Amino acid sequence: MTVNLLDFNAKKLTEFCVDIGEEPFRAKQLLRWIHQSGEDSFAGMSNLTKRFREKLNAIAIIKPPKITSEYISSDGTRKWLLPVGAGNGIETVFIPEPNRGTLCISSQVGCALECTFCSTGRQGFNRNLTAGEIIGQLWWVNRILRNSKEENTAKTKHVNEPRVAELTGRKHDVSNVVMMGMGEPLANFENVVTALDLMLDDNAYGLSRRRVTVSTSGLVPAIDRLRDRCPVALAVSLHAPNDKLRDELVPINKKYPIKELLAACQRYLESAPRDFITFEYIMLAGINDSVTHARTLVKLVQGIPCKINLIPFNPFPSSGYERSSYEATYRFRDILMYADLVTTVRKTRGDDIAAACGQLAGSVLDKTNRKKHVNMGAAR
Ligand code: SAH
Ligand code: SF4
Repeated sequence: MTVNLLDFNAKKLTEFCVDIGEEPFRAKQLLRWIHQSGEDSFAGMSNLTKRFREKLNAIAIIKPPKITSEYISSDGTRKWLLPVGAGNGIETVFIPEPNRGTLCISSQVGCALECTFCSTGRQGFNRNLTAGEIIGQLWWVNRILRNSKEENTAKTKHVNEPRVAELTGRKHDVSNVVMMGMGEPLANFENVVTALDLMLDDNAYGLSRRRVTVSTSGLVPAIDRLRDRCPVALAVSLHAPNDKLRDELVPINKKYPIKELLAACQRYLESAPRDFITFEYIMLAGINDSVTHARTLVKLVQGIPCKINLIPFNPFPSSGYERSSYEATYRFRDILMYADLVTTVRKTRGDDIAAACGQLAGSVLDKTNRKKHVNMGAAR
């Protein structure tokens, strides 16, 4: 059976090398070739013995997902579509800023959790991404960004890349990763954690734990597992200050209500690389954006070291919601800030190419796994 080495973190790659009779240190060399040099063939791996390369050729491949299209927003945000079989597609988004380059990665084909304001949730669920498909997004984007930096007009082998506007002064490599693309990362725990291992590994991408963020709608047992297994920065999609409203907007709240979620956040902070949790709060006109909601939120998060990130709702066809007005958003923010809560309003990036939060729909044609997955998620 052929194995895809992109599916392996350092531990699994070491086991693999030992299993086929090689020294454990070979895993380190392989990691560097695959993830730092962006190699997808064994032929060029000059410090590996010929015999080892032949062995690899016979039993292993380095197979990233395919990339078919790229979109570039007027604000420099770039989005790629990656087909993942059976007519399904996922999306990954790079957001260049003056002092950082953030990659927003998908973890599932669609999402089973059905938050009412989310285009991915509305699309339904098909399947979990493999570890290779998750880390493959970073693998690709690193390679593409390297090419566009080297020659601005680069046409890579795989991507029909339009001429990239020179974005003077913007970061052109990935310094931060947020698991905020399609899907609920903690519902695909093992594969996401394997990919996180590679993001943090000095022989692979070497990102700091503080610069890798998992965003979750609140799968409480999985938050605890993440704390024990691979603590990275945590963002929690709160979106409502009481259970009644949260039950409606984020249905998983019926299983893991706010009190349990906040207790898990407190536990997470014991091992977290940052000393705060980020609470995401989508601003929906007339739904969760009143003065009373803001005051209730202040009381709710009292005693939890946190930052609040207000996310202007990004509309999509027939969502049934509207974005809160500028006035309502800043009134809400001011109430939180007056209570000494660090609060930011997220800048909307890439909305002209449907790359903004919650607009990632990819394409999910086969949704037959949805029910099964919802049950699985609930059992965790
Ligand atoms: N499933 C995870 C991560 C992916 S969604 C989660 O829910 O946290 C990333 C963020 O985008 C979440 O905070 C999510 O609530 C938010 N989001 C979803 N739909 C949105 C929309 N239409 N407009 C703005 N933000 C949205
Ligand atoms: Fe899934 Fe997150 Fe969208 Fe909710 S907001 S449906 S958890 S991707």
